Amino acid sequence: MAIAGSGMVGMSTALWAQRRGLRAVICDANAAGTGTTYGPACAIATYACVPINSPSVVTSLPSLLFSKDSPLTVNYWHAIRNWRWMASFLLNCRSSRVDGITKELAALLDHADEGLDPLIADAGAEDLLVREDCLYVWSTRAGFEGAAQANALRRAMGVAMDELGPEEVRALEPALKMPIHRGLRFRGTRFVLHPQKLVERMQHRFQQDGGVTIPAAVRSVEPNGQGVTVRLGNGSTVTAGHVVVAAGAHSKSIKGAGVEALPLGVERGYNVTYADHRSKLSRPVGWAEAGFYATPMELGLRIAGTVELDDLGRPPNPDRLAYLRRRATEMFGQLDGPSQEWLGHRPTMPDALPVIGPSTVSDRIIHAFGHQHVGLTLGGLTGRMVADLLTGRTPTPDNARLTARRFKSF
Ligand SMILES: Cc1cc2nc3c(=O)[nH]c(=O)nc-3n(C[C@H](O)[C@H](O)[C@H](O)COP(=O)(O)OP(=O)(O)OC[C@H]3O[C@@H](n4cnc5c(N)ncnc54)[C@H](O)[C@@H]3O)c2cc1C
Repeated sequence: MAIAGSGMVGMSTALWAQRRGLRAVICDANAAGTGTTYGPACAIATYACVPINSPSVVTSLPSLLFSKDSPLTVNYWHAIRNWRWMASFLLNCRSSRVDGITKELAALLDHADEGLDPLIADAGAEDLLVREDCLYVWSTRAGFEGAAQANALRRAMGVAMDELGPEEVRALEPALKMPIHRGLRFRGTRFVLHPQKLVERMQHRFQQDGGVTIPAAVRSVEPNGQGVTVRLGNGSTVTAGHVVVAAGAHSKSIKGAGVEALPLGVERGYNVTYADHRSKLSRPVGWAEAGFYATPMELGLRIAGTVELDDLGRPPNPDRLAYLRRRATEMFGQLDGPSQEWLGHRPTMPDALPVIGPSTVSDRIIHAFGHQHVGLTLGGLTGRMVADLLTGRTPTPDNARLTARRFKSF
């Protein structure tokens, strides 16, 4: 089999394929773990079952179109050009749809550790994970009350969490300087100290076990009776029994895989990292009103999040980086730096669910993309689901409602 993409999803698929006895080749012009997987907030967010789709997005859309100072911003012209994605996204903001999406995401997240833990063990990467309850913090009563429905949904899905008062939050994380109204502590969670290193270790294990990495992008795929011809950007071809499309937000660039017809969108997100300030926190802390997490990862204190609906190819927006820097000083006081600034591209379907399963073009092409805000968390499980599909097993959970077929009418 061939895999397009060496991010968290592609690399996890490669390792699970080997575990199931398959031989795999990974094709990617870029080094492993340097795409969106490089810059997340690093939370293994098994509690993050509520999507960003919500009825409140619809009511606040007019202001978001012109706002420069909100955690969610929308480029007006991007929204016009991509009106079908936007319309579908907004339809998925109805309460009834949000309930359904939350159930589907919770079903995946419930199994996330089963997909991830064996790979961490295989890669010898236990030292890159920290077991520490993540926190989510609201600065205002209005913000906390506005999240009541989302928190009720989390509770209904069985997310293990405790509500904390301001003093309890400050006792856990004394460096926080912004106003605190309430916090939620998600019990039993973990975070990753360096996602790129994690994927590199996975790649090392993959190669030790005979896996091959080809440093070239996949341009097109052509299925036939016997297999798939995979055409690469360096002019060569690979012939494989199956090809897995795991190129994240770039998956549409692969011709013939049936992705062009799908509403794969992009939620741009940013991080700024302060090398000298890792010791400010002991765990990821999400600041609800600001729309980001602060995480004490190996490279320093990383401030990561926000959503910008804009084109995949547009350069980083300096206003969004300035927003993160300003809010970081509200959260911690004056900080030196940052030492790094970064833009990443979350691959996002309008219904916030990943696409996992065969393409409508051919059963020899398997889709594995669209993991929006939780790809680091769900990459391992996705790899197991894909490897199960390729070896005739029924994946757990069932992927039936996650395939491209759900967009038949798009
Ligand atoms: C600011 C931010 C914070 C986040 N925080 C979290 C978090 O705390 N927890 C969490 O679980 N998730 C988080 N996420 C989401 C997570 O980072 C993504 O869902 C995940 O990294 C997607 O992984 P991927 O493998 O699908 O894509 P990528 O990591 O982007 O990998 C795709 C790979 O495909 C390659 N590629 C592109 N085109 C081709 C081609 N034609 N042929 C072959 N290869 C190709 C690219 O070079 C790249 O290496 C966050 C995202 C952002 C932006």
